[in-house]
Amino acid sequence: MLHFYNTLTRQQEHFTPGEIIRFYTCGPTVYDYAHIGNFRAYVFEDLLQRHLEARGNTVNRVMNLTDVDDKTIRGARREGMLLQEYTARYKKAFFEDCDALRLRPATSYPAATDPENIAAMIAMIQTLVEKGHAYQAEDHSVYFRIASFPRYGQLAHVDLDAQRSSKRIKNDEYTKEEIADFALWKAWNQEDDAASWESPWGPGRPGWHIECSAMATRLLGDTIDIHCGGVDNMFPHHEAEIAQCECVSGRTFARLWMHCAHLMVDGMKMAKSAGNFYTVRDLMKRSWSGREIRYVLLSVHYRMPLNFTMEGLEAARHSLYRIDEWIRRLEEFIQHAADSAPIIKKETCFTTLEDFFIALDDDLNISAALAVLFDVIRESHRLLDQEILSHNEAMALLDWWHRVDSILAITPDSHPKEIPKNVQQLVSLRYKARAAKNWIESDRLRDAIKAHGWIIKDTKNEQKLLPQESNS
Ligand code: AMP
Ligand code: ZN
Repeated sequence: MLHFYNTLTRQQEHFTPGEIIRFYTCGPTVYDYAHIGNFRAYVFEDLLQRHLEARGNTVNRVMNLTDVDDKTIRGARREGMLLQEYTARYKKAFFEDCDALRLRPATSYPAATDPENIAAMIAMIQTLVEKGHAYQAEDHSVYFRIASFPRYGQLAHVDLDAQRSSKRIKNDEYTKEEIADFALWKAWNQEDDAASWESPWGPGRPGWHIECSAMATRLLGDTIDIHCGGVDNMFPHHEAEIAQCECVSGRTFARLWMHCAHLMVDGMKMAKSAGNFYTVRDLMKRSWSGREIRYVLLSVHYRMPLNFTMEGLEAARHSLYRIDEWIRRLEEFIQHAADSAPIIKKETCFTTLEDFFIALDDDLNISAALAVLFDVIRESHRLLDQEILSHNEAMALLDWWHRVDSILAITPDSHPKEIPKNVQQLVSLRYKARAAKNWIESDRLRDAIKAHGWIIKDTKNEQKLLPQESNS
């Protein structure tokens, strides 16, 4: 039974998955390299997705790319580049870093400036204006009228009265009815250069909050199952997403809200603005591998602040070394064990294997899950030392490890990966196609296998299957 802490209700709740879990994760603003604080959020979301999948669910995850905002526009101007060229560079870097950290790709990565997304944003704003939830101000921008949505503030438990001003504010910056009203459509100004789209309210660009609302509902429907992000996204960003979506559809926007705590450095949030950040590539240049960084980021419960230190990376390296050694020893034992090795019934040892998954069912309790893993490692070394581990038992342990690693994704790169069932099926279809000299079909299947991350090498009599090199 899955239980997760819901930020909206401030309670741990039972989560009942539907046929497909509709999962939305706020993605990066592609104006620079993402830092590992950002990646803490993405690694947490990856752990969640992988665990849901390991529990037999199908997950449809959408992660947006914010490729137009003040920072991207400013960056493109500074470099004298077109906005698309500038953001393309950081999109590419983002996906490289995701690969290095072994993040399972989302089903789709909609970008804010995709024409179909801009159209969806404009349509949503139009509905909001028609329903009286939005208005165009004297500065030509369109704002959401938070006074029209009494539930505004429910997610973050923010006291709106403290935010509100009763009279209309007029100064250089605000032509809004209330100071907390947020922009849905920002009227074009000179600094925006070519970052401008036509709209019923004149040329301009969307606000950040409407981007997520439009892309989430366009791709996942009015009500989604899980919405995640870092805790700093909760207010005002997620609060605004709820207001926009629920005012348009009249339905609950997200059933479950999950937020991860910050990655900290010396007691402060890791942030670009604080200058206390590391990117994935900074650390890789210093010879830390992607899986070591991944391990640091996932090994502390997502709702606990995680203090980032070099000692933490050292400790991760050490933990991974213990895991690698254990796998190596089990494999070696399996290769050399005589069948006459004493048989110990599976039930008699390792009764705790399922506890790894049960711990994750409990709001992704990674500390308890890793404790199970290291107990199993310790115990199996003891049995190997005493030469009383059976061949079967060792194989069962390796099978279990493959299930565990489908969630943790920390196997060393040189380690042979377990071949997934669907890939095995494709390989045997290809074998038949080749036997029938159907080369077109054989090539098609080779591509399909490649799309699953496996490469086929043909020798005279057989097909050899190798995992595609991943960055480590
Ligand atoms: P941004 O590009 O600033 O919108 O951030 C992208 C994601 O990273 C959001 O989900 C943020 O909440 C998250 N994030 C930013 N800084 C940190 C941090 N130091 N620790 C954890 N998550 C963070
Ligand atoms: Zn968002």
